[in-house]
Order: sequence, then structure tokens, then C-alpha cells
Amino acid sequence: MKAVESHGSKVEGAVIDWLKVRNDFPALRQQVRGKPLVYLDNAATSQKPQVVIDAVREYYEQHNANIHRGVHWLSEQATIAYEGVRKKVARFINAADPRECVFVRGATEGINLVAQTFGRRKIGKGDEILLSALEHHSNIVPWQLLCEEKGATIRVIPMNDAGELLVDEFAKLLSPRTKLVAVTHVSNALGTITPIKRIASMAKLAGVTVLVDGAQAVPHQPVDVHDIGADFYIFSGHKMCAPTGIGVAWAPLILWDSLPPWQGGGDMISSVSFEKSTWAEVPAKFEAGTPHIEGVVGLGAAIDYLAAIGMDRIAAREKTLLQAFEAAIRRVPGTRLVGTAKEKAGVASFVMEGIHPHDIGTIADQEGVALRTGHHCAQPVMTRLGLAATARASVAFYNTPEEALALESAIRRVSEVFGA
Ligand code: PLP
Repeated sequence: MKAVESHGSKVEGAVIDWLKVRNDFPALRQQVRGKPLVYLDNAATSQKPQVVIDAVREYYEQHNANIHRGVHWLSEQATIAYEGVRKKVARFINAADPRECVFVRGATEGINLVAQTFGRRKIGKGDEILLSALEHHSNIVPWQLLCEEKGATIRVIPMNDAGELLVDEFAKLLSPRTKLVAVTHVSNALGTITPIKRIASMAKLAGVTVLVDGAQAVPHQPVDVHDIGADFYIFSGHKMCAPTGIGVAWAPLILWDSLPPWQGGGDMISSVSFEKSTWAEVPAKFEAGTPHIEGVVGLGAAIDYLAAIGMDRIAAREKTLLQAFEAAIRRVPGTRLVGTAKEKAGVASFVMEGIHPHDIGTIADQEGVALRTGHHCAQPVMTRLGLAATARASVAFYNTPEEALALESAIRRVSEVFGA
């Protein structure tokens, strides 16, 4: 509610005061190593606006109780808040029914939930799972564990040197053995926006179930799960201004209903006896135990905040910022951008000739610039491109064009140190 009030007037007008928006994020006001913090690790996790921090504090100060089970007033308030956020999530991603949105710990847990329910029930010996060359480890390893157990096989949709998936090759990989296509919407390592609608419709035409890893998409662009046409859509809260430890796994009710529970415990049952237990309705069936209530409350505040700015405005702002950051990187001799897909969101990965990315990150940090360096939990992407690691600047709407200049001078400093 507060977020809507704080940005309500801005939404009406065509122009957003992005510096005012930036000021909503207390962590960004800090100095680091005597320099203003330039936070460019948004793909790892976003910073949190004051309204989200306040919502979590207010929850503990005024509404804290366990949900669903209490008849007392406070428990009812906590339950109303928790279930109210489910409605907000549904609206945010255009789900038909809030019950389609299952709260999980994050994208990792969401994908594991699907692997352990859909995967264990529907995938067997000789079956194939198609992943893409761009996947984060979270969308590889759960399927490897499943394949080991079931005797199924993973096949990989290849990409070109720019980091774009080869859709024609995908078409050739689809076969009667394919039981699942699990593909990212946006690559965390390269920023590629994949042709997810096309992939989903080709897979659905072949009768194959589709999971989309939306961890890097939902924070950066409007997402409409119906329009995409996949069966499962998964994302994390902490990359979209919400607290850590909360995320969402979306699927149509009919699909969730057809699946067995994964974790057992309180709240996910209808009745329990030592002989037999029966399950609660979706989504409770998949939310065993006391959930991350304050995380859900924080997610609700984050959604209000982002929706009040407008996701299309955020996407447009970040596109302009990304161009500025990529141009800044290109201006420094000896640098090379890694990931040059036509459609990109938020991520500028790069390398410097003869300099290890960890050294880039360490020297940039001395300048107050927070970069991520390494394989970005996407080792197969690095292997495909013949690299061990990259340095990655990932932007959010609260970054500024001036910070692109700060990145440029930090990279120039790296060059100086290495005499490049
Ligand atoms: N998928 C992608 C594309 C990611 O970038 C990440 C995290 O960086 C994940 C999945 C895993 O998200 P989490 O660690 O929040 O579970």
C-alpha cells in the first residue's frame, strides 16, 4: 500500500524521477572503501526499497503469528496478509487463480519441487529432458538427480557464439522420447532473452511439458504466464526487491492437482492417521510446515512497489542503462563483451585480455564498484564459450548512467594496474 502511495503520482505521468526512486534504497546511499557504492550485482540479488524493509518490520511489530491454524485474531491477520500476497502475485504474472501460485524458497526450490513431483511421476527410463545451453545450475542439477534415479537422459539445446539459442536445433531434438523442456527466460550469465514463447509453443505442439526458469525475467520485464504458454513458471523474490528465502512456482491448477505432494508435514494434509494421510488442496499441498511468512509479506510489498513504477517502464529504463554500461565497457581497450544476443536484459558480461576476471572484480571493488566474477553458476555456458569465468555487471532500474562512467573508470584502473 505504501509503495503505491509513494509512487502513485509518478505513475500517472510519463516521466519517472529515477533519482527519487533510487533514494528509496537505503543500501545504495553507502560509501564503500571511501567511494560511493556502485552496485552492479543485481542478477545475484537486488537491493531492497524502504517499503519492503518497513513491511517486514511492521509484520513483526504488529501482525506476527502462525498462519492458517489459529482461530485467534492475530493469526487471522497474518493469514489474511499471507493469502493476500498470493492474489498480488497472481495479478503480477497474470495467473488465472491465486491458488496456482505456490510459495517456495526461491527458483531453486521451485525447480526441485517440479522435479520431485512432476519429474518423479511422469519421467521414466529412456525418456529425455531438453535443457538449454544457457541454464543456471539450478535448472540442470535437479534434472541430473532425477535422470540418475529414473534412467532418463538430458539433451541440450545449443546456442551460437552470441549466446542465442538455436531454435532449429531445438526442433530437431524434440522427439516422442521428450517428456520435458526446461529453459530459462533470461540468461543470468549473458543476459540473453530466449524466444520462450516460440519454444513453449513448439514443445506444446509436440505434447511436451514446459518449465520456464523466470528468475532473471520477472524482476526486469512484464511477465504474463498465459501469454508465454508454458506449464510451469518459476522465480525468486530476492532478485525483485523482496527478501531472500521466498519465491513462486506457478502452474495451472489442473496440473498441480495431478501431482503428488513433495515434502510432508503440517499444513499440507487434510487428515492424518498412522494408517493413511490425505492431502490438502493446492497450494497448501505443496507448502508443508510453517512457511516464510515475513518473506511473503515482503514479496507483497515488493510487488506493490514494482507495479507502481510499472514493469514496462522498468524494462525500458534497464534497456537504456544496459546500452550505457555496454558502451562504457567497449570504450576500454582490451575488453570484450561476452553475450551479444540481439535480445538482452540487464547483464553485461565481459573479459579483459590477459587479466583474470577475479582480478577485475577485486580492483573494481577498491573503486566501490560491486561486480560479480566467476562462472555465475552457469559453468556449461563458460565451457561452451571457451572461458573459465567472466566479470559481470548486472543492472537494475535504480542504477544510473553516471554509474556506467564509474564502471568505465574502474576498468581503466584495472588496465593501469596490469599495464595493459
Ligand atoms: N535461475 C537463474 C537464471 C538464476 O539466475 C538463479 C540465481 O541466480 C537461479 C535460477 C536460482 O535462484 P535462487 O538462488 O534464488 O534459488
